[in-house]
Amino acid sequence: MTDSTAEAVESFRLRARAWLAENMPRVDVDAVPPPPGDDDAEWVRTRELQKKLYAGGFAGICFPSEYGGLGLTPEHQRAFSEESEGYEMPLLLNVPTFSICAPTIMDMGSEQQKRERVSAAIRGDEILVQFLSEPSGGSDLAGLVTRADRDGDTWVLNGAKTWSTCAYAADYALCLARTDWDAPKHRGLTMFLVKVHQPGITMRRITQVSGSTEFCEEFFDDLVLPADAVVGEVNGGWAVASRQLFHERTAVGGGSPFTSGRGTGRVSQPKPDLVQIARASGRTADPRVREMLGEGHALEKVQEQLIHRVSIGLETGQMPSPAASIMRLAHAETDWRVDDLALEIAGGLAVSGEGPGRVGDNFLMRQGASLGGGSTEMSRNIISERILGMPREYAADRDVPFSQVKRGSS
Ligand SMILES: Cc1cc2nc3c(=O)[nH]c(=O)nc-3n(C[C@H](O)[C@H](O)[C@H](O)COP(=O)(O)OP(=O)(O)OC[C@H]3O[C@@H](n4cnc5c(N)ncnc54)[C@H](O)[C@@H]3O)c2cc1C
Repeated sequence: MTDSTAEAVESFRLRARAWLAENMPRVDVDAVPPPPGDDDAEWVRTRELQKKLYAGGFAGICFPSEYGGLGLTPEHQRAFSEESEGYEMPLLLNVPTFSICAPTIMDMGSEQQKRERVSAAIRGDEILVQFLSEPSGGSDLAGLVTRADRDGDTWVLNGAKTWSTCAYAADYALCLARTDWDAPKHRGLTMFLVKVHQPGITMRRITQVSGSTEFCEEFFDDLVLPADAVVGEVNGGWAVASRQLFHERTAVGGGSPFTSGRGTGRVSQPKPDLVQIARASGRTADPRVREMLGEGHALEKVQEQLIHRVSIGLETGQMPSPAASIMRLAHAETDWRVDDLALEIAGGLAVSGEGPGRVGDNFLMRQGASLGGGSTEMSRNIISERILGMPREYAADRDVPFSQVKRGSS
């Protein structure tokens, strides 16, 4: 929320423009991208850039000032993001640190958690990630089996998490665990804030087909957590996770007010620029290629409009929070098609790795858009049940104590 003394958007924009020109480095379009997986230097750079934004007074634009932000509006953030195009920005912090974890802590965390974790992230001192998915499955999040047992004033965590994006570079994770096995599955969960690098956690990096090692898996062996690691209520973890999933769908869909700069990923893996790819492959005069360029452009415009409409709907309360799934679904559908178009236009360049962007690598990662942030099938379920009012999917484990739910081979 802003106060009446907040700076007008246009004045903020002009000030940001001048500051960016003087302080932030320009993106080097000719730089050779680092090989996938060899990205530690990118994280050092990301922290440096965030610290620069903070020192310049342009960090955490939509976060409240008492937690280190500027307390300004999404319009201020949009203006800053537009002005920042062409400059190096700490985009890696956009998802999940700023758009998912920090807002979840703001909504559901204790005063101390907000003051410590959110402020540290805005200063560029800490990176936050998510420990949600487990080897037994991610869509049925409430069916997770990592356990936290109370031991006096502390908790003892045992189990495993997987697909934790960039956890190797992080400081804290939001980790959902089961704390009551006799309650139905949604009612026996608790969210914890876990220090990522400490005894009791073994982390391994997962190598993908593209060579990227950004995904991690973690194993918890009698990891001791203090009582103040609990986010929200004990056994009230589903309320925290639901808020987190809302922020995640909004972020993945491209509508989060907490991302700063254009994009949410690595500078070395930009979204495919179809026109640039067509030029590089010498096919701009090919009528079929021109059609594909038109399709890509139309998709981009439709997605922009959809994000705008749903974001405003969510901000003003005209749309219910499950509407975030509409953006999330549109993101996947657009991404798949644009990656397919890029591959078709690039032809042999995609295979040889020559030409602009990483068309071949992006294509290998194509399916990620339908899983990261919850699968598109789950998004369709949410849209049908909670927006269109269609009947709820049958669930054999609804209202059954989790200890009595049949799982795996049991
Ligand atoms: C790029 C990326 C980043 C990620 N980052 C993180 C992260 O940082 N932290 C984290 O914890 N996880 C992360 N994940 C994991 C992600 O949350 C899971 O992949 C996702 O929730 C799906 O879980 P799963 O892969 O176990 O598939 P499963 O749950 O096993 O599902 C397999 C298939 O079955 C379908 N399915 C399952 N249940 C239903 C149903 N009820 N109705 C219809 N279809 C259904 C799914 O849609 C999917 O197609 C990431 C994944 C990707 C791709």
